[in-house]
Amino acid sequence: MKLIPIDKLRYDRELSIWDVLDVIGSIIRDRSVRVCIEVDESYVIKRGLEIYWALRRIGASKAPVGFGECYATLDDIGFYDNITGDTHRVYSSSLDFALRGLPTPLVKLRSYSDGKVNVWAKLEWYNPFSLSIKDRPAVNIVSSIASSRREGIIGDVSSANFGIALTAVALQFNIKTRVYLPRRAEEFGLVVPSLMGADVIHTDAELTVDIISRVKSEAVELGFIHVDQFTNDLNFEAHLKTLAKEIDYQALKANLKLVGIAGSIGTSGHMSALNFYFKNRYGDEFKVILAQPARGEHIPGIRRSETGMIWLAMIARGYEIFDVTLGEAIDAVKRVASKDGLLIGPSGGATLVALEKYISKSSIEGDIVAIIPDTGYKYLRLLKEKL
Ligand code: PLP
Repeated sequence: MKLIPIDKLRYDRELSIWDVLDVIGSIIRDRSVRVCIEVDESYVIKRGLEIYWALRRIGASKAPVGFGECYATLDDIGFYDNITGDTHRVYSSSLDFALRGLPTPLVKLRSYSDGKVNVWAKLEWYNPFSLSIKDRPAVNIVSSIASSRREGIIGDVSSANFGIALTAVALQFNIKTRVYLPRRAEEFGLVVPSLMGADVIHTDAELTVDIISRVKSEAVELGFIHVDQFTNDLNFEAHLKTLAKEIDYQALKANLKLVGIAGSIGTSGHMSALNFYFKNRYGDEFKVILAQPARGEHIPGIRRSETGMIWLAMIARGYEIFDVTLGEAIDAVKRVASKDGLLIGPSGGATLVALEKYISKSSIEGDIVAIIPDTGYKYLRLLKEKL
């Protein structure tokens, strides 16, 4: 067996993430690759195309090449290479920073840890463009489009953060953006993409998903690509190959005893990917706790599961969902601010509320990661109203 840089291999057919999800699951479970990829003298893949695409989609940098069975560890295939960035933190461009500035920090919260359960906040506002988790899908989606074209227009619906991330990444390839926002979008979601040169369309829709059919028909009429973060598998894939792996790596390095993960749902991209990754990594007993707005409540960036989320329905399993009011989420924001001095956004607050609701009815012990999608500095109007 030889380990070859994955970019050297050639293929005649692309496989989707759905085609190779089982293979990805077995790599995460076994923490190794057990079958070699067979290639000819020009590195064209003859057998093991599904291993190749599994490695590609999970962000490995090397592939085991040879005949029949083989054994390559995660270190051998450079599994963690794409999320262990540059220690000097010098980057050749803002996009390079977004790609190699990972992992985002994992910080133990005094406000929610009691020694029995330790809550570790994954601070996603350390992504440079949207100061949110949405840089991850934007980078993956736009890079894929930019690999075949370097101009034109792309567009999508956003609750606020994705429109910023999409625009910031697209402009690096001279691609223009159209961003559609719902009625209650926070001001930063309108102002920031405009400053970056996007066409921003502020609609009177209640929910992001209510705007999708309009974007679909305008994409045909006006001739732009609708990237559709709600169904684009590159959204789910982005979190599988960066966010999930980072948490796995950070837990490993810090000797954490990870027993669960908590987060909130909009497209469900990140929590479905984390659910898939960690159920494979640790088995079905690993807890996945989700926060959704209580009926009739609006919490920026997230919505209720029954409004339809493709990956949550098709891939996630064995999770528990808790309803959270905006008032409860903001109380959690205040608790973290007053005990840790960190200002988290309301969806991060909702996550901590859901987690506390789960902890209060269970006997769980160990380390739990809470995904904090963005910073509270974007929501001062909302936070002030509720003070
Ligand atoms: N929280 C905030 C602030 C968001 O902007 C979003 C998505 O836009 C989410 C949570 C939900 O993330 P996902 O779309 O991966 O479910």
